Amino acid sequence: MRRRLALLLFLLLAAEVSVAGKPASSNDIFSFASNLADRALASREPWMELVSLCDRIGPRFAGTPAYAAAAAWAAERLREDGLAVHTETVQIPLWIRGEERFDLLTPHARTLEAQGLGLSVGTPPEGIEAEVRVVGSFDELAERSSEVKGRIVLFDAPWKGYGQAVSFRSRGPEAAARAGAVGALVRSVTPASLSTPHTGMTHREEGVPTVPAAAVTTEDASAIRRLVEAGIPVRVRMQMGARLLGPVAASTVVGEVCGRERPHEVVLLGCHLDTWDVGPGAQDDGAGCVVVMEAAALVASLPVRPRRTLRVVLFAAEEIGLLGGQAYAEAHAGEAVVAALELDSGAGPVTGLGFDVRDPATGKPDPVELEAVRDRLAPFLPLLEPLGIREVTAGGSGPDVGFLVNAGAVGVGIDQDTAGYWPVHHSAADTPEKVDPAVLAHTTAVTTVVAWILAEMPGPIRTSRGSAPTSRS
Ligand SMILES: [Zn+2]
Repeated sequence: MRRRLALLLFLLLAAEVSVAGKPASSNDIFSFASNLADRALASREPWMELVSLCDRIGPRFAGTPAYAAAAAWAAERLREDGLAVHTETVQIPLWIRGEERFDLLTPHARTLEAQGLGLSVGTPPEGIEAEVRVVGSFDELAERSSEVKGRIVLFDAPWKGYGQAVSFRSRGPEAAARAGAVGALVRSVTPASLSTPHTGMTHREEGVPTVPAAAVTTEDASAIRRLVEAGIPVRVRMQMGARLLGPVAASTVVGEVCGRERPHEVVLLGCHLDTWDVGPGAQDDGAGCVVVMEAAALVASLPVRPRRTLRVVLFAAEEIGLLGGQAYAEAHAGEAVVAALELDSGAGPVTGLGFDVRDPATGKPDPVELEAVRDRLAPFLPLLEPLGIREVTAGGSGPDVGFLVNAGAVGVGIDQDTAGYWPVHHSAADTPEKVDPAVLAHTTAVTTVVAWILAEMPGPIRTSRGSAPTSRS
């Protein structure tokens, strides 16, 4: 409602600089950009939408009724904001966590706060019981493989960033199986914790042996290591009812503002709508979704449509293997997606703007073309200065749009401070009150202005995509 009032006021102002339906002049790029930024900074809409999504729908694991409710919610919101909306169905496996329980048996008896890893196999109903062996790397596992047979392996490596830590969650269970272990525990993938386990995907492949696998808290991982290093045997029981069903359907939600001059050139704003089953995913990736939804709504409210099509895509099934992003890229392979931005780094303050330009032939970064793209954007960068962005660096965008970026879309990354993100990532603690509404509004302002510039700037964004000869304008 607040957005509608702001829109009415803006329409009155905009009548002086533009007539509805008439293409904007290049000056309008600037006046509309500052108006979009002001309205985004003043809007509480993304915050209220985030609370609504997290509190009323909650965890929305892909393939579940809750995910379907979230998709219906998002489609309705985008329709209300004047976008043309449709959904695209992707068939996915449905992983069911089932009942699970983890117990420390020796040197004393207590429950372990732990969570099965996504796609893990389950245990027999009575569970598996074994002594724990602790390793800090795959090399250590290989060196000590004779000790591991019949044991539960705990992967306990110090945090050196997400990319390094996640390798144990992803490949640890099958490495443990190869070494003859009966189960795998992984130190939760986070630099900081208050006894919260962090789940996440583990790799599973038909025909590749694996073992039941779960994430333990960083505190329990440290305690088990201390005990084992002191020569005190640690015995653990894992009971997991995990199973894999499917395929089931999940919907990627798409809304767009059709471009007025080059409708076939698409500027894509992405996020993933699904979460893990253990928490409402306020930062992963509820925040990203409400920001891109608001950015598209604000652009849709302008008295003129942008030159290019602006499309918001809320991907399904990111958490269980980028299945929504992959299906989307395959279904839209022939389209000219000229730029693709995805917000999926939490809700911390914006720290920069990065562009990822690749050679479609090899999928490798193309520094020459990156420079060319930066040069074309340079005249519009002053629009972002009031929001704290003064340069474009080389940087990433997001997981789902990676397929499009490899195929030639310019990847656009809104860099964010992740200090508050990893401690809640993939855990029950990823809840809305850790999100600052003012920071969310600022991120929305940056995203909206970046989207507007890309959708409106004259000339090609990158020469190999959407250049003048292929334009239908
Ligand atoms: Zn995410």
